[in-house]
Amino acid sequence: MALSVARRVSSLQPSATIAMANRAKALTRQGREILQFTLGEPDFDTPRQIKQAAIDALLAGQTKYMPTLGDPETRAVIAAKLRTENGLAGVTPEHIAITSGGKHALYNLFQCLFDHTCPGEAPREFILQTPSWVSYAPIARLAGAEVVEVHTTVESDFKMTPAQLRQAITPRTRAVMLNSPSNPCGTMYTESELRDIAAVLVDAAVSIAPDLVVISDEIYEKIIFGGIAHFSIGSIPQLAERTVTVNGLSKAYAMTGWRAGYAAAQGEFGLRLINALGTLQGQMSTNITSFVYPAIRAALTQCADDVESMRAAFARRAVVMTERLSGLPQVQTPRPTGAFYAFPDISAAFGKTTPTGRIIRSSVDFCEAMLEEIGLAAIPGEEFGGIGRNHIRLSFACSEETIHRGIDLMSKFLSDLR
Ligand code: PMP
Ligand code: GLU
Repeated sequence: MALSVARRVSSLQPSATIAMANRAKALTRQGREILQFTLGEPDFDTPRQIKQAAIDALLAGQTKYMPTLGDPETRAVIAAKLRTENGLAGVTPEHIAITSGGKHALYNLFQCLFDHTCPGEAPREFILQTPSWVSYAPIARLAGAEVVEVHTTVESDFKMTPAQLRQAITPRTRAVMLNSPSNPCGTMYTESELRDIAAVLVDAAVSIAPDLVVISDEIYEKIIFGGIAHFSIGSIPQLAERTVTVNGLSKAYAMTGWRAGYAAAQGEFGLRLINALGTLQGQMSTNITSFVYPAIRAALTQCADDVESMRAAFARRAVVMTERLSGLPQVQTPRPTGAFYAFPDISAAFGKTTPTGRIIRSSVDFCEAMLEEIGLAAIPGEEFGGIGRNHIRLSFACSEETIHRGIDLMSKFLSDLR
């Protein structure tokens, strides 16, 4: 048939995390017992005071259109949080865009930073260390960016070195991504490492790429357990105006379904960029759901204890997950210090065969076989880029009991391989 959808989407890579989670959910609906280690979605319920704030607003009639980038009160609460907790000294409410989740903030941001090229023009570059979250590269390419990967390894603790970054920057560089704590690697940059990275960026902005912007995705900032303090690179004055800090409430406040996120950018350029985000959002989705604004304020001002108890639970699960994985023969698992993902290297299984005759040639085959043969759902590492192809991602945003049951099954799966 001649009917088609635009190339823009027919060539778009679907989100592997969402796809695998949906598949596992469909199998569960068909009656199969599936242990879910796919989504980065806290299993906790949203704290009560957050729900109450939304219910109160709903009953009070806050059900109409609101200012596109958020009501002034909520933008002010977010700006205050970023100034006091993250050291982003120059952030005012006008430097904040409130979006339908961190993913929406990132999507809009890439649309505002990149253009599709005119004939004869070379695309601008987006520097992305890999392995990295599955959505960064597709969202960037959709906006017209050329993705330049910086490969990290287990040996480098999945961190890019200042020298690697320096080498990747060219006059065409438009944006550099940072995501600490990292999805899927679970690693964090220390303050001193981020200061070294910042020094390279400041220098490059003067001598090579004047239009360079840093995107710092800090959505896992509260879920840390390795003794490394979270540090926001946008707090470094020389980099402040070039840094866009992206965050969201999905992870720290167990609010994945609420779709609440934000972007913050400082200084004069920050204002222009946030206004551009507003123009785009005004033609796209208008404001986020109106009665979610008070819920955001309740989360950011009243829920420190809830956040801490969820963090402590994730910390215990990280220990259980890494200890259990370390007991599996031929599986190497770097120890996560933040977020809620284990990222074991399962490449020793490549070339082996399962009891039903499936040959494991990749982490996609590995996850496919685990799902079909033992009912365990994990994300293949391919989609995270780079060395990710040798790994699988196991989210431990689930109970300790589920972790034990899952690793028991995985242990048998591995020992049955021939
Ligand atoms: N950044 C990272 C690194 C993520 O893992 C996710 C996935 N939740 C997001 C951003 C977006 O999350 P949300 O849209 O739920 O805020
Ligand atoms: N970010 C989470 C994950 O990686 C949620 C799904 C998604 O948006 O990718 O699992």
